[in-house]
Amino acid sequence: MRGQLKAIIFGPPGSGKGTYASRLQTKLGVDVIAMGDIFREIIGEETQLGRKVKGFVEKGLLVPDDVVVEVLKQRLGKSSSKRGFILDGFPRTIDQAKALEKIANIDVVVLLTVPDRIIIERLSTRRICKKCGEVYNIRYLKPKVEGVCDKCGGQLYQRSDDTPKVIKDRIGVYERQTQPILQYYKDKKIPLVEFKCESIDMPPEVAVEEILRALEKLRLT
Ligand SMILES: [Zn+2]
Repeated sequence: MRGQLKAIIFGPPGSGKGTYASRLQTKLGVDVIAMGDIFREIIGEETQLGRKVKGFVEKGLLVPDDVVVEVLKQRLGKSSSKRGFILDGFPRTIDQAKALEKIANIDVVVLLTVPDRIIIERLSTRRICKKCGEVYNIRYLKPKVEGVCDKCGGQLYQRSDDTPKVIKDRIGVYERQTQPILQYYKDKKIPLVEFKCESIDMPPEVAVEEILRALEKLRLT
């Protein structure tokens, strides 16, 4: 019987972090806990905590750390997987990292690094269906008919924040936010598994296999 994996995944916007996390979920049988999803779930629940979160989100306010931690604690308690979890989108601050320590002992940090030029190319060629939200890429995930969604026939558009300038700003925000947290875990001697994406056409399987091998080496799977 394998032990539990308690991991955090970091990656810049456009790194394919969500894709990797869901593939790792399938391969390892762990639970992927994405903060954005948990918020949506909990807002839908008619609980006191759900209403509290809703209050902040509706006002466009940042959900305070103590509330985030409470939400996470509840979610981890409900986790259906005995194999462990991968956290996506948390922690975002040192305070959150410290709070997390009181709930769970993280045993590995998975970091995806992608050169800026690849992120910019990937995101600025992204197109989204107006009707159903399906994501395409005019470079390597083309719809059958240009500008038209394969699934529903809806019109494809480019998100206004998928422009090189805005993407660069988002990468900057990510780096400023993530560097101190990575340093924090480094100081704590938490192992780091880093995957460097060097090519825009790199299939996700390649990355996932490499991450799995690294986790195996650490005897975490
Ligand atoms: Zn569509």
